[in-house]
Amino acid sequence: MASTGWPDAKTCSRTVPLANRARYGWFVSSPSSILPGLPPALHASHAGIWLTDGRGEQTVGLGRGQALARAADTPLLLVNAPLLGSRLGYADLSGLDLLELFAFLFPAQFVIPTVAGLARAMGLTPPASDAEAATLIPQIASTMLGWIQRPDWAEREGAWTSLNQLERLRWSWAPLLRPLIATPGTAERWLFSRLPQWEEQAPRPAPRPVTLDEAEVLARLRSLTGSGAETRQGQRDFSTATAGSFAPRPREEAPNVVLAQAGTGIGKTLGYLAPATLWAEQSGGTVWIATYTKALQRQLDRETRRHYPDDAAFRRHVVIRKGRENYLCLLNLEDALQGGFAGRAAVLAQFVARWAGYTRDGDMVGGDLPGWLMALFRRAGATALTDRRGECIYAGCPHFRTCFIERATRASQNADIVIANHALVMINAARGREAQGAPTRIIFDEGHHLFDAADSTFGAALTGREAIELRRWIMGPESERRGRRRGLAARLSDVASYDDEGAEAIEDAREAARALPGEDWLRRVVEHGPDGAIETVLAAVRETVYARAERDGRDTDPGYGLEVDLSEADGALIDAATDAARALEALLAPLQRLGKRLVAVIELAPDWLDGPARARIDGAISALGWRCDLLRAWIALLLRVGGPPEPAFVDWLAVDRVEGKEYDMGLHRHWLDPTKPLAETVLRPAHGVLVTSATLRAGGDTQTAVERSGAVHLGRAPIWFEAASPFDYARQSEVLIVTDIKRGDLPALAGAYARLIEAAGGGTLGLFTAIRRLRSVQKRIADRLARAGLPLYAQHVDPFDPATLIDMFRDDPRASLLGTDALRDGIDVPGDSLRLVVMEGVPWAKPSVLHATRRQASGEPTAYDDRLVRARLAQAFGRLIRRGDDSGQFVILSAAMPSRLLSAFPPDVPILRIPLDEAIARVRSRLGSDANIGQRLPDGSQAKWVSSEE
Ligand code: SF4
Repeated sequence: MASTGWPDAKTCSRTVPLANRARYGWFVSSPSSILPGLPPALHASHAGIWLTDGRGEQTVGLGRGQALARAADTPLLLVNAPLLGSRLGYADLSGLDLLELFAFLFPAQFVIPTVAGLARAMGLTPPASDAEAATLIPQIASTMLGWIQRPDWAEREGAWTSLNQLERLRWSWAPLLRPLIATPGTAERWLFSRLPQWEEQAPRPAPRPVTLDEAEVLARLRSLTGSGAETRQGQRDFSTATAGSFAPRPREEAPNVVLAQAGTGIGKTLGYLAPATLWAEQSGGTVWIATYTKALQRQLDRETRRHYPDDAAFRRHVVIRKGRENYLCLLNLEDALQGGFAGRAAVLAQFVARWAGYTRDGDMVGGDLPGWLMALFRRAGATALTDRRGECIYAGCPHFRTCFIERATRASQNADIVIANHALVMINAARGREAQGAPTRIIFDEGHHLFDAADSTFGAALTGREAIELRRWIMGPESERRGRRRGLAARLSDVASYDDEGAEAIEDAREAARALPGEDWLRRVVEHGPDGAIETVLAAVRETVYARAERDGRDTDPGYGLEVDLSEADGALIDAATDAARALEALLAPLQRLGKRLVAVIELAPDWLDGPARARIDGAISALGWRCDLLRAWIALLLRVGGPPEPAFVDWLAVDRVEGKEYDMGLHRHWLDPTKPLAETVLRPAHGVLVTSATLRAGGDTQTAVERSGAVHLGRAPIWFEAASPFDYARQSEVLIVTDIKRGDLPALAGAYARLIEAAGGGTLGLFTAIRRLRSVQKRIADRLARAGLPLYAQHVDPFDPATLIDMFRDDPRASLLGTDALRDGIDVPGDSLRLVVMEGVPWAKPSVLHATRRQASGEPTAYDDRLVRARLAQAFGRLIRRGDDSGQFVILSAAMPSRLLSAFPPDVPILRIPLDEAIARVRSRLGSDANIGQRLPDGSQAKWVSSEE
């Protein structure tokens, strides 16, 4: 038979992305004849509310009250209930959500959680208007339900079993799916027996010393970029310079450190992948690439495939590693499926089980579990499905051989490239775990964040939330809830029955842990009076914070976090801290004793100590070790109360609040210079480290970059490399400083945002330094923009994580997105979807105790502040131009923008100080003069865009 050019049913497997299947025409074109009748569909935006009948033939506009009454009457078809609920002002809105159906039918497949996104995934033309979106919903639902009839539905296995469970849980789609999903001919395999097992492998020999040949590095770069790609000298220079970090180390504790600032557009990812992959192959070693944002992890995931295009080879050679709290714990899932969860959380557990059968790596945060799924269930039970509390029982777990975490850990020991984040690399080094796989060749991309990542990793916080976690880890659950959560005694019962001293240490630790905050601690501390030494010190902290925040007049942002310096503590706080330190010492002692007993048991090797038991005790020793470190850090912090400050640290007290609601409080300690522990624990033991970024100088000079990388503490000078961006910023961009918006004038600020977004026809990223102002502006302008056909998404308002919001923003060139710090440099949107960045003002640092102490210690407070602002401006500007054909404008709504900060922008970019009207005219005229900007409809076709002001 001649080939049709289309894949046949057999090739349709879970490795084929859904979009491709739709593109190849693998959907039923007219499924309605076999499908049940559908209920009406509801759609809402800031511009209005629409209801369409179940055939998508008649659409009417309706009011909010009518819409809510209809939704309460009968389950309606809808897309994205949380987003719809926030548009209707009714967070509990529910119905037949097509996203839930999608998660059931196509687990581990990507889709943008909008009507347009679903339409595209199902091979339908996206709607051109909100009214059309309502009309399209029944058609999308029909197409999805029709897919079930296809013999090549790749995710059929497990669906019947899962539907049975979901039917019992009264999932709203179950009655519609029941007649469509037939009982399978043979019994379906249990999820836990379907998962592949990891294989134990011999330890890898140490990497051979290798000096990379420059010609080979450049040849590898050519093969990565492709033969047709233009030659970029900056990228070639970058590639050969970074190869220096892989050279053999001249002496112990003197790693080869290369600091490389490479402007946007150099192509630094492929630039360093060339020497990294070459070194891994020639030496037999592993290169760890650490990023700060998930966006870059995704990019690296894509770009490493250029060298390993075969999927099996890619999986063998490249591993993405996250902290263990990111992965699904199969034992927790089993517990949830067997009645540990109730209500909506139990439904979520079924979806996660469907996904577990098809996921690439079990990563629940940023992997192939849709980011919007947790939001659909308002995160009910989500955290209980991971191993957040360190309760893993390792080889004692029935799922140990299929465990996602264990598989990722083993795979990374034999991989060429491990993609991780800054924090994980630091934690692995600091906690001394996985010594065999400890990174020795490290690339820190987004290196301008190294200082901040070290700041959080090496800081300590004794807060209520942290302390109750420790209590739970030691004592297990306090109520007689169902579930497997177990304390130390249950996890180590075999040790306790074998070793009397060990049993006694466990009992003593349990007794001492009663001093830690228990369930309901917050209410006791705030309202009824504390119970135990730690709750008492938390109450004293709270009292001090409120007393001083008011006395100092520093309470500038009521309803949000408050903090005060830990100096001049009064008698009550000192007494409480002393008692708390004593209580923690009483807990530390038995935990240390237990650690020693566990080591002794391993050495004695009794008969019952088989491989699994040994692995479990090894795990317990490691977990005990870092909890003892944590306790020592807390004790040191408590003993500092009332004493002289330690110059190496900054200590403060804080009460954490959101919109007036307190959720945590406690004592905090950060290093004045966190690059000191970074240098000691991560850099010094390594052989080679590359730190790279487009803005490595972080608003200062080369010396600043050396200081903020930690290289300054190594006693061996790093190699500095620099390559300028190849972009023509003068032609591609301009900076507009708007001079007539008064600081603090919220209506004027909101009006400026609305008019600029309208002039640009959407495609705007709005950046704020305060959540409160972001929310106020969003509230004032969302309806107005929606009426002009310009959707507006907002971090801290819409119930989605930043990655999902960025996906929604990227998908629609008419959409705009408002956000705070996470979006300032965590967003990579090349092309039309981002053509205007608007900052609400000069991004000064938040006046915190930590910031104040560091700026004072710098000796040049103004220069210190300026450097931080320049770094933020450079990062924000970097969002605008991502490719050679990008074009856009950067607007700052602040008349008070000091000229000395303008060096943050590329030297040749035009900078104008103009009133708002003029800025709007420039935005509109630039839009009109560039045929590529903002003129694409959601389906990718070109059209004339007319902004609402024309
Ligand atoms: S080995 Fe640990 S993390 Fe893995 S499934 Fe079992 S308990 Fe969970």
